[in-house]
Amino acid sequence: MGRIAYSLIYSGQVNKLAGEETKTCLFCHLNKKAGLNILDTFICSDCEKRLVRATCDDRAYQFYLQNLKKFWHEL
Ligand SMILES: [Zn+2]
Repeated sequence: MGRIAYSLIYSGQVNKLAGEETKTCLFCHLNKKAGLNILDTFICSDCEKRLVRATCDDRAYQFYLQNLKKFWHEL
């Protein structure tokens, strides 16, 4: 369970955001330049780090996981 988000981020579906383009982060809703694109969704580098660092029993991780689930259901 704890590795789902990690493997999602580092799967082939994810590309590093290039250039000076800004995108709105899925989690913190801030416009950032650096981060990850997952399909049409963007996760900023700050949230990415927190997400990767988070563990199963971490409340932050549960929050992120819920957001990700919501995102996948919308596909
Ligand atoms: Zn963010």
